[in-house]
Amino acid sequence: MSGTALPRKPLQVPCPHCRQPSLFAPENPWRPFCSESCRQIDLGAWANGDYRVSASQPRTEPESLTAPPPSEGLF
Ligand SMILES: [Zn+2]
Repeated sequence: MSGTALPRKPLQVPCPHCRQPSLFAPENPWRPFCSESCRQIDLGAWANGDYRVSASQPRTEPESLTAPPPSEGLF
C-alpha cells in the first residue's frame, strides 16, 4: 500500500445522440458521445439548425388557451 491513487472507476455517461452509455474518459476522444459517428451526426444536427427549430418556431397557442375558460359561473 504505497499509492493513494484513486481506483479507476470508469465514468459512463449516456451518449447525447443515441443514449447508449459512453465512456467519459480521455480514452474516448468523442466524449461525451459514444463514437465518432454520433459526434459527427450531432454536430451536423447543430449545423443544420435542427436544435434551433424549437427556439425559432412561431408560437402556436394550444386550443386549451384559446378556448374561453369555463369559469364564468365560479365567480
Ligand atoms: Zn452514440
